[in-house]
Amino acid sequence: MNIDRLRAETPGCAHVTHFNNAGAALMPQPVLDAQLRHLELEARIGGYEAAAHAKGALEDTHRAVADMLGASSEEIAFVDNATRAWGAVFFGMDFKPGDRILTARASYASNFIGMLQRARKMDLHIDVAPDDEHGQVDVDALEKLIDSRTRIICLTHIPTNGGLVNPAAEVGKVARKHGIPFLLDACQSAGQMPLNVDELGCDALSATGRKFIRGPRGTGFLYVRQPFIDQLEPPFLDLHAADWTTPDSYRLHADHRRFETWEINFAGKIGLGVAVRYAQDIGLAAIRSRVDGLAGTLRSALREIPDITVHDSGLVKSGTVTFSHRKRDATEIKSALLAQGINTSVAVPSGALLDALNRGLPDMVRASVHYYNTVEEIEALVEALSDLQTS
Ligand SMILES: *Cc1c(COP(=O)(O)O)cnc(C)c1O
Repeated sequence: MNIDRLRAETPGCAHVTHFNNAGAALMPQPVLDAQLRHLELEARIGGYEAAAHAKGALEDTHRAVADMLGASSEEIAFVDNATRAWGAVFFGMDFKPGDRILTARASYASNFIGMLQRARKMDLHIDVAPDDEHGQVDVDALEKLIDSRTRIICLTHIPTNGGLVNPAAEVGKVARKHGIPFLLDACQSAGQMPLNVDELGCDALSATGRKFIRGPRGTGFLYVRQPFIDQLEPPFLDLHAADWTTPDSYRLHADHRRFETWEINFAGKIGLGVAVRYAQDIGLAAIRSRVDGLAGTLRSALREIPDITVHDSGLVKSGTVTFSHRKRDATEIKSALLAQGINTSVAVPSGALLDALNRGLPDMVRASVHYYNTVEEIEALVEALSDLQTS
C-alpha cells in the first residue's frame, strides 16, 4: 500500500487528522470527482438525461458492491443509508404475534429501536444473547435461545461504540443449521475488512457508504440472498419496487428493486460505486491488516497514559478505539482535540445501550483509524491526550 499516494489522493488529509472514520471517512478524490461530474451533467443537460447518460456507471454500483460481497448484482439494493437498508428487511418480514427475534448486546440503537417498535405493535419477543468472557456474542448461548418461534437473527458485526468484531460467520453457521434468516449489520465492517456473504452465512447484510467504504453521505446498500428476497415485502413500495398491474393489484419485483425507491441521489450512487471499486483496488485484506496494525498501536499507546481507560472488548478487534478519561469528560476531550485539528467523536451509551448498561460504560471518546492514517498522526493524538492530562 502506497500510503503517500493514497494520502495525496485524499484532499482531507491536507487539512485534518481524521480519526472519525467510524462516523464518516474522508472521501478520496476519484469519489468526489465522479459525483461532481454527475452533478455538473445534471445541471447542464437535465437530471433524467444525465441519468440515462450515466446508465453504465449507475449499474456498476450494483456490480461493484456484489463483487465486494461475493453476491450477484440482482441481490444488491441501493438505498439512502444503512438504517433504511436494515429496515427494508426487518420491516419486510411477515412476523406473527408470538414470534421471536434473536439478537446480541452490541446491537445498534436504530436497529434495536426498530425491534422494539415491531415487538410492541405485534407482540413479538426479543431475545438478547449474552457475551462470552471476551465480550463478543456467546455463540453457544445464542444457539440455546433458539426455539421454534425464532424468526430472525439480527447481529451487529462491529458495534458503533468500540473495537469488538463479533464472530459473524459462527453465528451464520448456527443460523443455517436451524434454517433461520440471518440479518447482519455490516455498517462498520464494510470497507474495513473482506466480507463474503457465503462465508458469513448471512441472508441479508446492510451497510452505509460514508463510513469505512469512504463513499458519499446519504448512500447505503443492502444485500439480500435471492431466495430470501421472495419472503420480504418492505413497508414502503413505489413504482420502482413494484409494478401496478391492474387497478386493484400490484406485483413486487423479484430482485433488489423491491427494496429501493425510484428517486435517489444519482451522483451519490455513482460515488458509492467508485468508492467500492477504490477499496477493492487497494484490497480489503490489505486494508484490514493496515487498520489492525494502526489500531493496535493506538490501543497500546493509550494504555500508557495514566487516567485513560480503553473500553474495547472482543477477541478480534476493529479500527475503532474507545476510551474514557478519569478527570475529563469525553465531549471536552473531543473539543480540545478538534481545536488542534484532530477529529474524533463521542460514543454515548444510548448508541449501543444494551452493551453500555451491561458494562457500565460512560460517554467515551471514539478514535477510529483508517488505512490512510499514519503512525505520526497517532503519535500526535497520543501527545495531545497526554498534554490534556497535565494541563
Ligand atoms: C452507523 C451505524 C448504523 C447506521 O448507519 P446509517 O447509515 O447512519 O443509517 C448502523 N449500524 C451500525 C453498527 C453503525 O455504526
